[in-house]
Amino acid sequence: MTEQPARRLLLVHAHPDDESINNGATMARYAAEGARVTLVTCTLGELGEVIPPGLRHLTGAALGEHRRGELTAAMRELGVADFRLLGGAGRYQDSGMTGLPDNDDPACFWQADVDQAAGYLVEVILEVRPQVLVTYDDHGGYGHPDHIQAHRVAMRAVELAADAGWPIPKVYWNRVPRTIGEQAFARLHADLPGLPFTKAAVLDDVPGVVDDERITTEIDGTAHATAKSAAMAAHATQIDVSGAYFALSNELAQPLFTTEYYELVRGEPGDIRETDLFSGIEGAS
Ligand SMILES: [Zn+2]
Repeated sequence: MTEQPARRLLLVHAHPDDESINNGATMARYAAEGARVTLVTCTLGELGEVIPPGLRHLTGAALGEHRRGELTAAMRELGVADFRLLGGAGRYQDSGMTGLPDNDDPACFWQADVDQAAGYLVEVILEVRPQVLVTYDDHGGYGHPDHIQAHRVAMRAVELAADAGWPIPKVYWNRVPRTIGEQAFARLHADLPGLPFTKAAVLDDVPGVVDDERITTEIDGTAHATAKSAAMAAHATQIDVSGAYFALSNELAQPLFTTEYYELVRGEPGDIRETDLFSGIEGAS
């Protein structure tokens, strides 16, 4: 067996861009520290709305292929070499926003058999043997069918991998503490006149917002803010970055968090308020 770095982090996301928005600073930090960072993305986001007018001709498979290139560029910015598509490229297609007829397409991720999809992820888990897995909460952070499905598949894979001999010690969900979100939006409203965005999003649009008590872990990614920002900008079809803010295709400004927050949902915390996802794991922290 080839030798593995002592610390191994696995992230499961729905579309290219979610990893950079939610975990870009965390991924850059651990990659820089020599941890093995593995990203599994479940679809290529073929139904995403394209922001730059010059790229709006890209739809379906052509957009998916383009977004694969954006993901590659983003991973270069974060220093992450190991990124994969669940079941291989094209295995699962983007399901589109909730309620669209695309949700019923048999090829879409929302229609995937959870155990089968989890099986592909178990293969990755047994190869990488991560001590930490990061994904969304059961609402997928904000309700997109592919995000909910990514959550279900990741959590099922955690169970199946444990049965197969690799119980992942710690599982986290992506979070934003409510008070941090409120403060960031207050700054955003003050800065908005100087930004290229005309309107602000609202805090409820931000995935994973919860009351502060639920936050177990805070990863200060200040030193990797530039990498996170560059990775987000690499997803140019989906994200418009401007300084400490960004907008998605709805053009509503929101804060770009360089400190990233998590809720430990499986495993024992290493500290009262963790500042390292690997804390408490023997030989890893
Ligand atoms: Zn997404």
